[in-house]
Parts: sequence; structure tokens; C-alpha cells
Amino acid sequence: MTEIKLYNTKTNKKEVFTPLDAKDVRMYVCGPTVYDRAHIGNARPVIVFDVLYRLLRKVYDTDHVRYARNFTDVDDKINAAAAARKAAGATETLEELISQRTEETIAWYLADMGELGNLEPDHAPRATEFIQEMIDMSITLIAEGHAYEAEGHVLFDVTSYKNYGSLSGRSVDDMIAGARIEVAPYKRNPMDFVLWKPSDANQPGWQSPWGRGRPGWHIECSAMAEKLFGKRFDIHGGGLDLAFPHHENEKAQSCACGVEEDFAQVWMHNEMLQVEGKKMSKSLGNFFSVRALIDQGYSGEVIRLVFLGTHYRKPMDWTDKKAKEAEATLRKAARLFSSTPFPKSWLNTSDVEVPQEFVEALANDLNTSLALTFIRKYLKEGDKLKLASSLELLGFNLDSLITSFANLELSSPEDKYVKSNALLPYGEVMDSTLLELANRLRTSRQQAMQTKDFASVDALKLALTNAGVSVQMSKDNVVLEPTTRFDKSKLENLL
Ligand code: AMP
Ligand code: ZN
Repeated sequence: MTEIKLYNTKTNKKEVFTPLDAKDVRMYVCGPTVYDRAHIGNARPVIVFDVLYRLLRKVYDTDHVRYARNFTDVDDKINAAAAARKAAGATETLEELISQRTEETIAWYLADMGELGNLEPDHAPRATEFIQEMIDMSITLIAEGHAYEAEGHVLFDVTSYKNYGSLSGRSVDDMIAGARIEVAPYKRNPMDFVLWKPSDANQPGWQSPWGRGRPGWHIECSAMAEKLFGKRFDIHGGGLDLAFPHHENEKAQSCACGVEEDFAQVWMHNEMLQVEGKKMSKSLGNFFSVRALIDQGYSGEVIRLVFLGTHYRKPMDWTDKKAKEAEATLRKAARLFSSTPFPKSWLNTSDVEVPQEFVEALANDLNTSLALTFIRKYLKEGDKLKLASSLELLGFNLDSLITSFANLELSSPEDKYVKSNALLPYGEVMDSTLLELANRLRTSRQQAMQTKDFASVDALKLALTNAGVSVQMSKDNVVLEPTTRFDKSKLENLL
């Protein structure tokens, strides 16, 4: 079995990954707060953990891996977006506007991430469906002396948990010194964070032992992860901006009311997508959405390949140059796949071995940039099988690659005789049958030029036309092009 090594933020080391239960490998990744379209920075963790998910499924088997990514659908930013719609004249209630906003954002998110080639996780929990679990966890934390109630709030007492700060490597005193936090009068310690807070009539709220209120952000992920995966699971991921305070707080809550120091085994964080050295973020206003990029004509595959070109623990910039290079690579790959013969069965690469060197690159803390050097090597060598299986493991769909990138200049020898037609199912069009018939027609025609007997040429041409193949013959060439009426079964008795 391939050994996977992952860099663990908790230990600051690359470690051999050993799942708690190889029959149920569990990965939880913090998902989006659903108030607006995802920007391309938000796509980075999705692509990074999608590649890890695919690798885990390859190594441990699809049925033995579970991936959860939540939707934070209760948050003050969502309330603000709904209130802005109301202020702009919307007639619905705030509750309806919140629900509309979250529903449409979730649908956008799934569509956008799908277009980038990401699989949907096995679990996509919404915070609002786990409110009772959050209340229960807060009750336990109060009972165990890790949290306290103050003015309708429930706060986690950071001094009650001795390992607070161990994930991000900071002491509480350092945090206080470095933080620009508002010191609410009801907090015992400035770093204490909210588990529950009161809601006014215009804010979403649920009944709780502390009055009508709503959860804080951190408790959401702790409650959902525990409900889905139990108190201990394997991998917890997200962007580096989440390491502190979000993950530090999640870890504190979960460990304080669970198995001490044993919530997620491995914590993984992707570095930030930047614009001129600054994190791309909605609050800085230096962002562009995934959808805007797609609308500008960058395909999902190009965006995905650009991301994979940089190791996930390095900051990266989106540049047009990278997009052009990615597009050129994908175009070359599509060209190679489109050169005949490429039997239909090759499209289903699930039973084709991915080269071990390629799997090992990914298994070495997701070294996607090394993996891409192998992709370029297979491309150069024209090794379609290695290329196809490797690209599939990275999340590229061969069918759609061909469809998107196969507007080819016809330059390979085979292409002179059989044109691809991207509108038709690829496997049927590029079947070697057509190449064989093109060759036969060409030979037959050359002979007929000598004998002046064109009967067999005409018969073959008629059969091809009847099967929906357009036949173009020039002085020294024959080009067959399947039309939308192409019917391969009508060619079978010619073989
Ligand atoms: P948010 O909706 O802001 O909570 O972000 C959702 C996910 O996107 C989290 O895992 C963040 O860490 C991640 N994220 C946000 N901005 C960036 C960025 N500029 N680069 C990479 N990841 C980001
Ligand atoms: Zn989270």
C-alpha cells in the first residue's frame, strides 16, 4: 500500500499518515460561509482537499473514505446581506431573505466548484441542521468548567484548557498582546470566545437554556464533525487563515469535552491565494469570483491546473501567464488523446494503473507541482495511458478535456484521414474503424486511378455516407468526418 505523508500543522512536521481506521478514513474540511459567490481563493482549499480525497480513495478504496465539508449558513454576514436586500425594497421577511440567500449561494458554490472538477463530499452538513448538537456541546462545556454564561452569551474560558494555543503555536499571553480584539465587558479573559450569543428579533435565533440566540462560528464545526465522525477522526483541513483562531478554538472545545488532545489527528492548511502579496479576500475587496473567471473564458480545467502548479503550502498568485500555460498543456493532452487509434475503453481508466511515481508524488504531502512535471513528461513521450490515468487521478475528466480542447489543427498523420468531431461521443468518433476505412478508401482510390474502375471506391463511399460519415476526397487525400448522423453499426459489415 502506498505510504502517504502529510504535513501536520499540529506538530509542524511531515508525518506518515496512519488512519485511525483504514476502513473508515475521515476528513473534515471547513466550508464556505454562504453569503456571496466564492472567490478564486476559496477554490484553493476545495481543489487541494479534492486531490487529497481522490488520493485517499485510491489508496484506501472509495468505500473506505468519508469527506465532510460544511456550509456555514448562520453568520452575521448572511444576516447583513439579507438586511441589505430588505433595505433595497425586497418585500419578503428577513427570514425568507436569509433562506433565499443561503440557498442560492450554496447552489452557486456547488456549480462553481463542480466546474473546477471537484467531487462533492460525502457529507455537506449545514450548520442550521445541527443547532441542538451545538447547544448540547455548550451545556457540556459549562458543566465541565470550560465555559460560562454571561449576559445571554456562552463563552469558552481559554484558561481552562491547558493546551490552548498548541495548534497555532501561541500562548494566551502572546495572543492578548498581539490581538486587536474588542474586550467585551462580560468576558473573563479577552481571548475567551463565543459559543452562543443572543439574537434580537431581526436575527435568526433558536431557543436555548440561555434564551433565544444563535451559535458562534467555531462551535459549528466542532459539533458537526463530532456528529458525523465521532470524537476522533483523521484529517481536518482548511485555509491557513483558519488555523487561528477558528481551528485553535474548534480544537479547544472538542478536546475539552472529548478525548483530551485527540480530536483531529492531522491538521492541514493550504496557503493563501494572493493578489500583489496580499491575501485575496472579500473584506479587502481584492477578489474576483470563480464565476467571473469562467465567464471571461477560462475553463474550469485551466483554473484547476493553475492551482495544481503550486504546492498547497506555498502562497500563490493567479496570473494570466499561468492560465495560458495551463491551457497549452491541456490542449496538447487533448490533441494527443484525439489522435487515433484511441479505443473507447481507454476512456474508462479506472482499471488502468496510475504510474507509481505519479502516485508517490501526490502521496508526498500532495506534491502536485512534481506530479505536473510527470504529466509534461508523459505528454512529451506521447504516453497516452500514463497521461490519461494520471490526469484522471488529478480530477480531470478526459471526455470533457477532449470536448473543450479538441478544436485541433489537423497535423498528425492520422488526423489527415479522420477528423475528430467534438460534438459526438468521443470514443465512437475516434474509433480505429474509421482510420482503417480511410486507409482502405485511399488505397482503393489510388488503384482506381490506374485501372479507371471506380466501382469499389463508389461503393465504399456510399456505405460511409449512409453511415453518417462525410467523405472528402482530394487528389491525394481522403478525409472522413463523422456527422451527427454517424452510426457505427452501419459500418460493421464492411470490416
Ligand atoms: P470563508 O468562506 O471565508 O470561511 O472561506 C472558505 C475557505 O476558503 C476557508 O478554508 C478559507 O481558509 C479559504 N480561503 C479564504 N480566502 C483564501 C485565499 N485567499 N486563499 C486560499 N484560501 C482561502
Ligand atoms: Zn470550521
